[in-house]
Amino acid sequence: MDFAISDKMQAILEMMNEFVDKELLPLEPEYLKRNFVDLLPQLEEKRRLVKQMELWAPQHPREWGGMGLDLMDFALVSEALGRTPLGHYVFGAQAPDAGNIEILHRYGTEAQKETFLEPLVAGKIRSCFSMTEVEMPGSNPIMLETTAVKDGSDYVINGQKWYTSSADGARFAIVMAVTNPEASPYLQASMIIVPTDTPGFNRVRNISVMGHAGSGWASHAEILYQSCRVPRKNLLGPEGQGFVIAQERLGPGRIHHCMRWIGICQRAFALMCARASKRIIAPDGRPLSSKQIIQAWIAECAADIQAARLMVLHAAWKMQQYGAREARQEISLIKFFAAGILQKVVDRALQVHGGLGMTDDTILAFFYRHERAARIYDGVDEVHKISVARRILQDFENRPAR
Ligand SMILES: Cc1cc2nc3c(=O)[nH]c(=O)nc-3n(C[C@H](O)[C@H](O)[C@H](O)COP(=O)(O)OP(=O)(O)OC[C@H]3O[C@@H](n4cnc5c(N)ncnc54)[C@H](O)[C@@H]3O)c2cc1C
Repeated sequence: MDFAISDKMQAILEMMNEFVDKELLPLEPEYLKRNFVDLLPQLEEKRRLVKQMELWAPQHPREWGGMGLDLMDFALVSEALGRTPLGHYVFGAQAPDAGNIEILHRYGTEAQKETFLEPLVAGKIRSCFSMTEVEMPGSNPIMLETTAVKDGSDYVINGQKWYTSSADGARFAIVMAVTNPEASPYLQASMIIVPTDTPGFNRVRNISVMGHAGSGWASHAEILYQSCRVPRKNLLGPEGQGFVIAQERLGPGRIHHCMRWIGICQRAFALMCARASKRIIAPDGRPLSSKQIIQAWIAECAADIQAARLMVLHAAWKMQQYGAREARQEISLIKFFAAGILQKVVDRALQVHGGLGMTDDTILAFFYRHERAARIYDGVDEVHKISVARRILQDFENRPAR
């Protein structure tokens, strides 16, 4: 295992961190007061600067206009950009586009790549991923009600989805729908590309999540597919392989999210330490940081962040060396562990800020609201824990007790 950072990568990270500090953090107060789409002109300008600096789309191949970083290096980038909710978007590395780009690279036909992938990597359009359903349990994704029925040279899609993140303003959705109901459960669904201007693609609403409906990229929509007809050539990958492809999409995606959360932890931790050092809480002028309970929180958070960070880097390393299948256990471990650390660190940082922490005068309340979802999307905590425990216990079934 070698987690050493190359000189080139160190230079890239320094440039990115500086950009985040100078160009993006100053935009946050406005972002917290207004809607994402109101900020688009400024964000587009920042994107232009990122492209000029040749830091655009860090994890995408060079031949598509990206930086061509491998998973380990992109993990470090995700940490740097994660310090602000605007980071990944401005650098062209945001979910759900990043995951959609990966599967379009791998499974897209030449025509699909030209129409959907090329403008997506270039940041000219956005996309969304439409799998979770209102009436069915997302934690068991083989239970889908949405169908795509063949009719001549088309698929006709019917179903109700929600939490289709970033659907507002997206050019197309990648939809999971049952195409082969007679097949075994894991081979029933397919991925189909649906342009959002197709009749029958109805964005019902942006769901209000933790008090905010959001807008544009920063939103989660409910979508009703009503006799939504797309040509069969919009099938992405082989028919019936939707779950297999979805699993492939989730592996690197979980590394990206976990390292983004480590970036959030670093930011919250820095705010916590700064506030504790400056906030005078005693008449003799001693700050909050003089209290042992706060010192204990600071030490515990430092250890938690370090542990989670090394676990994520190890999972990334294993995935890069041996592939996603071999790294399944490590990925499940980091998914619930890093999400738990994120919640704990942000909560403590907020507590140290007292009433100020509850306001939108710092970024902490935003993190507290929006990052609670980390324990739910890309696999709920409980399912990851169950699969980790099952694999561990399997090893013990045939082993003599010692
Ligand atoms: C912010 C956010 C963004 C999202 N973005 C997208 C997106 O872009 N596209 C998309 O398709 N979906 C998206 N989702 C949906 C997400 O994938 C689902 O919410 C998730 O899979 C859980 O499904 P569910 O909400 O139906 O919960 P359910 O399946 O109903 O589960 C509810 C709870 O039951 C418990 N539980 C579930 N299974 C078990 C078990 N086996 N054992 C014990 N307890 C269990 C867990 O505590 C779980 O939280 C997003 C969700 C959020 C919150």
